[in-house]
Amino acid sequence: MKIYDKLYIDGQWVESHANQMIDVINPATEEVAGRTALADKVDVDNAVQAARRAFNSWSRTSAEERADYISKLADALTKRVDEMTHTITTEMGTTLAFSREVQVEDPIDALAKHADRAALLDHEIEIGNATAVREPVGVCAFINPWNYPLHQMIGKVAPALAAGCTMVVKPSENTPLHAFLLAEAIDEIGLPAGVFNLVNGTGPEVGEPLCTHPEVDMVSFTGSTRAGVRISQAAAPTIKRVCLELGGKSPFLICEDADLETAVKLGVDDVMLNSGQTCTALTRMLVPAARYEEAVEIAKTYTESLKVGDPTEEDTFLGPMASQMQMETVQRYIGIGVEEGARLVTGGLERPAGLDKGYYVRPTIFADVNNQMTIAREEIFGPVLCMIPYQNEAEALEIANDTPYGLAARVWSEDKTKAETLARQIRAGQVYINDGFWNNEAPFGGYKQSGNGRELGNFGVEEFFETKALIR
Ligand code: NAD
Repeated sequence: MKIYDKLYIDGQWVESHANQMIDVINPATEEVAGRTALADKVDVDNAVQAARRAFNSWSRTSAEERADYISKLADALTKRVDEMTHTITTEMGTTLAFSREVQVEDPIDALAKHADRAALLDHEIEIGNATAVREPVGVCAFINPWNYPLHQMIGKVAPALAAGCTMVVKPSENTPLHAFLLAEAIDEIGLPAGVFNLVNGTGPEVGEPLCTHPEVDMVSFTGSTRAGVRISQAAAPTIKRVCLELGGKSPFLICEDADLETAVKLGVDDVMLNSGQTCTALTRMLVPAARYEEAVEIAKTYTESLKVGDPTEEDTFLGPMASQMQMETVQRYIGIGVEEGARLVTGGLERPAGLDKGYYVRPTIFADVNNQMTIAREEIFGPVLCMIPYQNEAEALEIANDTPYGLAARVWSEDKTKAETLARQIRAGQVYINDGFWNNEAPFGGYKQSGNGRELGNFGVEEFFETKALIR
């Protein structure tokens, strides 16, 4: 069992002022898998002050120096791939294979690519008698959820390091272990004291003090739209920059000419991966009425072939939900879907056969869903797919855009020009075309209530700059 009884502040492992610990539960076994120190308001203040003191010198380092630290950190994490993979599976239940490739190796790769982006800070533009120069925004607070814990952490830490910012990070209180492992790697590479500080605790006790702290210049948050609203309100009196990566209810528009078997299977995979706990999950599948029953049958057969169970077993596709609370939320939505009159094609409220322990739910498909039903409007954050029929592409586009969210979408047509034309009409931050796959250098973020700002690639680094005009 992993026990981290100290916080990482000002380049040192220190006792927490709160003097409390929190248990980390393995959702596959419901047993305690680790314990970590909890912070309070005093610890938050100590961490922010350390980041403020470090800012003066860190913000003036050369691009080469920052690039060197980023590369060293990527190397230090690469040495820990096995440990990080098992840690993330233990704390949130994702399968080992997915944990290694997607939850660990991909963010390390994204981090390494940020070494070259340290030079973006030095980019200047001449405008007549003025020069526009870039400066780091300052001290940043990072607040993260539990579903792709290292990814979300690196999506903030990497651009902040590249841009010359200092930071205080708060992982989700449900999944803090990976962040302590990251802090160990940061300590090992000798990053200057105060550039990276780790506090751990709940939203109200640690998150809110970070958002209201007058010495924090920017808050970058990933999580629910509900918490994003609270965070924006808490940060408003001190006029902080606030970047938000929030929820989604993303559409997958399948055109009539699509290779239905391939498209539907990809759509099911997308929703069931990580047990449905993916913010970009394509949870609304829009299918032409003429091919609807065919698509429902493919989705049913394929979903029933996916193994649910122990995330450490190689052939498991869906592990448990990350917490008991998340399991109960998903079950509640499945109940709502049934009450609303959607057709339960597969899955449902009972536990998956043979799994009496662990926070497991059955991968579930609802057909005959209309876009006004609760299950089509609200983010469920579990392995639940809604299949919605449409009559023509104009109606499909209308349904795709009829959502308070705008994080992601996918369009599938054998006519790629048509697919791209449709993709350009969907109001979402990432629209995939046919079998287009994840690119960790492409801008990532949401329209509408899915958030503000972009992460990853050059766009992600630019969120961390102030722009100054020098006028002669
Ligand atoms: P959550 O909003 O409950 O919690 C996220 C983090 O915010 C946690 O660290 C929590 O302690 C903290 N927090 C909660 N209330 C707070 C407050 N009032 N002030 C400050 N901090 C507070 O979300 P979750 O359940 O951990 O994660 C699931 C949600 O995250 C889903 O809605 C999902 O769509 C979203 N998400 C979005 C993205 C994206 O990039 N757009 C990525 C992953 C997850």
